[in-house]
Amino acid sequence: MELYVHLPFCVKKCRYCDFVSFPGTESRMESYVDALLREAALNRKNCEEAIDTVYWGGGTPSLLPPHLLKKLACGLRSILPIAAVSEWTVEANPGTITPFWLDMALENGVNRLSLGMQAAQDHLLQALGRIHRMEDTLESVRLARKAGFQNLNLDLMFGLPGQSLTDWQHTIQIALLLEPTHISGYGLIPEEGTPLFLDLESGKLALPEVELEREMYDLLLHAMASAGFRQYEISNFALPGFACQHNIGYWIQIPYLGLGLSSASMLSLRRTEDGLYYTRRTNTADLEGYLRSLRDGLLPVASVQNILPGEARFETMMLGLRMNQGIHETDFRRMHHRTLESCFGPRLRMLEGRGLVTFLNGCWRLTREGMDLQNQVLVELMD
Ligand code: SF4
Repeated sequence: MELYVHLPFCVKKCRYCDFVSFPGTESRMESYVDALLREAALNRKNCEEAIDTVYWGGGTPSLLPPHLLKKLACGLRSILPIAAVSEWTVEANPGTITPFWLDMALENGVNRLSLGMQAAQDHLLQALGRIHRMEDTLESVRLARKAGFQNLNLDLMFGLPGQSLTDWQHTIQIALLLEPTHISGYGLIPEEGTPLFLDLESGKLALPEVELEREMYDLLLHAMASAGFRQYEISNFALPGFACQHNIGYWIQIPYLGLGLSSASMLSLRRTEDGLYYTRRTNTADLEGYLRSLRDGLLPVASVQNILPGEARFETMMLGLRMNQGIHETDFRRMHHRTLESCFGPRLRMLEGRGLVTFLNGCWRLTREGMDLQNQVLVELMD
């Protein structure tokens, strides 16, 4: 089982961001940590299995002051079965971490840091509305190394307005010089309603052409391979032994508990002769509503969805095809008590004919073109 904890605090809202995160809510941090611990206690019965990985995402979890970081980590440890966690990631943003915060994180079990570097050009960081500049990334990595963090991810973004291929190449080169164990490279997706989306809509900004964006992705694939990083998912690359186990857990459908604002949980997983059943539960995204529910001793749940075998099979395809290892026929049969052929065979062969998926040694995978056209693949696989 896995544990995700959402920390929704940010210094300022980035111009492309539609995550559940708020600036100017520092005064709510302590109440929020107390609420998270109450939520953990209310979920104790959902965690019969030991938790293998923990991920604190956001928001900007590195904004949590050291004493609250300690309170949250110790509190979770005393409530949930997280004694034998193998990977504990915390997201951090350059410019927000201090030596004391890093020491406190390490002392309390965090062993992986994920740093939002995004780009190496200050003009691009500024256009994205990020609070940091390139020198803050360099300093944050230096501090993390000095504190003793060995497992370090850098998040990078491509397909940005005004970003050239040379900018992107330079960003990758600098990221590699910082010697991370893991790199995530995401194409920008303009989310409706964000300031960046409005600027694109009004013509004030323009995205790179599709061809240039593909070239950027190809550049990333080649640079990662040359540097010894193995691609294990569309956007994720790791040195041997450093793939993110928490994210892999989502893609292979391991149950997870999500705590905090807007977080999702996958619970009550049952394997029957008909296939897989589970429940997806999603928390409210309203900060005051979240705090109020937990003050009243209630779970802050906004929706509960019972996933039936047909939907579970589609989710296996949707999540599994993201991974380079693809979906093995034997794994599919073990999970769903049905053959992959009987569920998706004709549609997979049609996609194979279009060059979007490939079949080798019992495994279906996306081709390079299939990675670009992943949404089309999924539409074809839907019932
Ligand atoms: S730091 Fe991350 S979560 Fe916070 S506003 Fe920026 S993109 Fe959103």
